[in-house]
Amino acid sequence: MDLPGSVSERRSRSRPARCPLILSYHAVTASDPAGDPYGMDVRPAVFCRQMRLLAALGFRARPIEEWLEDGTALDQDRRWFAITFDDGYQNVFDNALPLCRRLGFRASVYPVISRIGTTGSWPQEGSRRRRFMGWEELRALCSAGWRIGSHGMEHRSLPSLEERRLAWELRRSRSVLEEELGGTATAISYPYGHVNDTVVLAARRAGYRLGLTLYAETPDLFRLPRLEVGRRVGMGRFVLRLLQWWWRGCLATDMMGMAEDRASSRRKQEKRSHVRPAES
Ligand SMILES: [Zn+2]
Repeated sequence: MDLPGSVSERRSRSRPARCPLILSYHAVTASDPAGDPYGMDVRPAVFCRQMRLLAALGFRARPIEEWLEDGTALDQDRRWFAITFDDGYQNVFDNALPLCRRLGFRASVYPVISRIGTTGSWPQEGSRRRRFMGWEELRALCSAGWRIGSHGMEHRSLPSLEERRLAWELRRSRSVLEEELGGTATAISYPYGHVNDTVVLAARRAGYRLGLTLYAETPDLFRLPRLEVGRRVGMGRFVLRLLQWWWRGCLATDMMGMAEDRASSRRKQEKRSHVRPAES
């Protein structure tokens, strides 16, 4: 199903004047590289150095949802950025929250609803088991000023779903979050970063107000690009991308090395979606 009518017009109305810097993390843990085939884990010490660097540069982190709610004020402050954690790992609560709290940073978490409070493995990780945050931890994050959004019910690639299943993934995940946590879940992080016009329309209809992907040809509120930070983004590369962003004064489509990562990211996404469900 394609979006009826003026997609470009709709996009132009919702496109932000400037995309904020949004960092995309998954797990913060000192894992064995052998158990992390897609390099999504960041060591706590590395995460600490990255956050301390940003803090030393005068940056502060606030949830991306606040940018939407208070866009004008935040847009005028270039030393503001957002941190997102996909999948809802317990190690984010254990390792990232304490540091962020010390630095005065607040972030957003996008848990997979069916995984909340469970321990299990992703198919590609073999026998390696991970603990996912439960509702108690998610409520504690809310109390700390963090935001919780949707990452779908079962971590499915949304563009591949038929209409009713797509609507269920979007609506049910949002309603469960709101029933359990109160408040309003306004953001969705698309599993694998996969999104198309059909997904955007369904997300709007489900009541979301912004959507997070990884790379976006034409960023808008439902295609906000993020800089994916994983095991292979060392401090040197991290600093280089920050300098690129700083030099341009904004995060445009190809800033932060996203263009250079485009091909490999697409190959990785295709591999994940066609072979087996995985992290995004
Ligand atoms: Zn994911």
